[in-house]
Amino acid sequence: MIDLCGRRYALPARKTVVFCVDGCAPEYLDQALADGLMPRLAGSLAGGGLYVRGRGQIPSFTNPNNVSIATGQPARVHGISGNYYLDAASGHEVPMNDPRFLRVPTLFEKMEQAGVRTLCITAKDKLRALLGACREGGPRPISLSAEKAHEQAIPEHGIASITAAVGRESPSIYDWDISHYAMEMGLALHERVSATLLYVSLTDYVQHKEPPRGPMSDRFHARFDALYGAYLDAGFVCGITADHGMNDKTAPDGSPNVRYLEDALREAGVPGFRVLLPITDPYVVHHGALGSYATVYVDAAQGGALERAAAVLARIPGVELVLPREDAARRFALPDDRIGDLVVLGDRSTVLGKSAAYHDLSAVQRGLRSHGGLHEAEVPILVSHPLRPDEQARLLGASTTAAGGGARGRESALSNADVFDLVLNRLSTAAA
Ligand code: ZN
Ligand code: ZN
Repeated sequence: MIDLCGRRYALPARKTVVFCVDGCAPEYLDQALADGLMPRLAGSLAGGGLYVRGRGQIPSFTNPNNVSIATGQPARVHGISGNYYLDAASGHEVPMNDPRFLRVPTLFEKMEQAGVRTLCITAKDKLRALLGACREGGPRPISLSAEKAHEQAIPEHGIASITAAVGRESPSIYDWDISHYAMEMGLALHERVSATLLYVSLTDYVQHKEPPRGPMSDRFHARFDALYGAYLDAGFVCGITADHGMNDKTAPDGSPNVRYLEDALREAGVPGFRVLLPITDPYVVHHGALGSYATVYVDAAQGGALERAAAVLARIPGVELVLPREDAARRFALPDDRIGDLVVLGDRSTVLGKSAAYHDLSAVQRGLRSHGGLHEAEVPILVSHPLRPDEQARLLGASTTAAGGGARGRESALSNADVFDLVLNRLSTAAA
């Protein structure tokens, strides 16, 4: 057993992997299962595997949610409040990709301390350092990315070339199968490094570009299923979740359905404000830095400015919620020192920008799908093997202890931060 922030985890009894399918709203899996594109996943569910809906973390962005999966904790505890935040000391907007922003160790670091070899593979290189963090010294989790696979090696295990081990060149970060490459890396490498606990985090390029049943989306899920099957065949227990979902954010004329918060505040004459978009990351083709969550800093010296800003923002059509810092921190379990004075959420079809002049929309001109708000915070939670009957009953109610089918996709109180707990602690002993 290891202890991480008061949660206890059993050491893996057999090879275990969790896949974070980036941007995977449950509808993607529901549709692909219904269309027969995921026979291996369907087989797991028919055999008693778990599939429920659960909560992701707000903001429904990649970094906070991946770190919640990796720590079992909300951002209030782990500290990663967005992909970006405003460093109050320097006044600079900085990406939260560096392990120095973590306030707790990851499960992988703790497992390494307990002698469990862990392997983290992320499609997006921006997550690599966070997943490989080693705050307390001791052995370091192996952390690789598909995006930079051509530059990486594991010399201590005699692996001079990741791409040679996988057997094909790594695709570009904007290719439909870069996520599958990350999964292939895990299959090719885990035995060579003696890893028994894997975390494979994908990227949401496909989900940003296509809804369920799009041709690329269909190919994505069929290939995911084949690789999922390869993990099962290699003897893995698999957990699957998402960091967040995805929704269409396109106006009737096909342009991004965006509200520019700085422009609105300026026009209303609010003094001394700054809008931060914590979705910002290097992958502008995905979303053009437009998501449904923004945080606004207001100069406290300007009397009444905070209240005026909140009122102006709340009146913008498509703005769903404007919360003062303390309320947002409490409601969404966020670290109050790493969010602005106001948190602003766009509705299901609306994204929030800084100003019309700031954003380069050339990459998202033909329709925008994005995330960040409440409507992208529902995620699928799946386990390949049956849970203990008492756990199944606790999660789903006593009536659904039998093989998953009837409970497939129903709502639960779980969050994506619970997935490692499910696969390490809650499996039926026959599965473990
Ligand atoms: Zn994501
Ligand atoms: Zn995204």
